[in-house]
Amino acid sequence: MTTIFENIKRPLLIAGPCSAETEVQVLETATRLSNTGKIDLFRAGIWKPRTRPGSFEGIGARGLPWLQRVKEETGLPVCTEVANASHVEMCLEFGIDVLWIGARTTVNPFTVQEIADALKGIDIPIMIKNPINPDLALWLGGVERLRNVGLKQIAAIHRGFSFSGEKIFRNRPQWQIAIDFRQEMPDVAMINDPSHICGRRDLLLSVAQKAMDLNYDGLMLESHISPDEAWSDAAQQITPEVYGELIEALVLRKETFDNPQVLTVFEQLRKQIDLIDDEMIHILASRMKISREIGQYKKDNNVTILQNSRWKEILDKFLLKGSQHELSEEFVTRFIKAIHDESISQQEKVMGDDRVI
Ligand code: PEP
Ligand code: MN
Repeated sequence: MTTIFENIKRPLLIAGPCSAETEVQVLETATRLSNTGKIDLFRAGIWKPRTRPGSFEGIGARGLPWLQRVKEETGLPVCTEVANASHVEMCLEFGIDVLWIGARTTVNPFTVQEIADALKGIDIPIMIKNPINPDLALWLGGVERLRNVGLKQIAAIHRGFSFSGEKIFRNRPQWQIAIDFRQEMPDVAMINDPSHICGRRDLLLSVAQKAMDLNYDGLMLESHISPDEAWSDAAQQITPEVYGELIEALVLRKETFDNPQVLTVFEQLRKQIDLIDDEMIHILASRMKISREIGQYKKDNNVTILQNSRWKEILDKFLLKGSQHELSEEFVTRFIKAIHDESISQQEKVMGDDRVI
């Protein structure tokens, strides 16, 4: 077990109920998951951080022996969430193989530090979920706190980010944050948690597939013997058999091409992309140069930087042209807003004065 995140078996498959509810439920879920042959690590929440009091807050320490029984009867290693030092102690006492820090805990450096301190000198694998807010530094900081006490077997779990507004996902994936995480810490295994991203069953496969396409190291999925009756997160859980089908349906891809002819064509396409990227930078630089000239005119004539009607005209034009070229409205909006933002900053620099009050 000590090498679960080193020489990782890819994809590492973690599954189990959101919450341990009864001994029978835990054992039956584990047995049926084990029968699919598609699980490496069994999960079950023992202490549940719930948004509002009054919901089921976890079975507590009396569920820990149930996890021990899962190990004995299925041979699967087990993991659960810890949110403070006393959880850590109890898990160590009951031989839990892997721990994870939940999203609501990652946001709090004091608590992550408390958990790290409780693990000082102990070589146990630990996973850390992204914080609920889209803050890469906080996620990386959590890993640093664990590393600082000497923990070596660390994985990150990408479970999406809270947001308000219209929802398809329960937690917006914001894939770029996980991609940025991997750039910063390439040696930390990255596991995707489609269950908490989706919050609903029908999207699980597409999110899990996307994670595989983005070369994630593993998946964590919630599975329950009677999903609709689950005491927490019912809408996103699937039976062990449906879980087995989902994993079976995933297309697993290699990181490189093995056919040299295909590789040559592919590399040519990449060269074309590189050329276009170079052009893009030049075009953006020319556009900003003109913005600075415009800034100078506005300054000389005492005109505001932002004119709402002009900005609306640009945005509408982009949206129309984008839609004619198969570009999503979301992308075009983000793209032109980023350019506009930079253009305003460049003009501000031209207009700026050094008065201090
Ligand atoms: C969970 O895994 O059941 C859980 C509480 O997840 P998160 O910390 O991602 O909300
Ligand atoms: Mn859950």
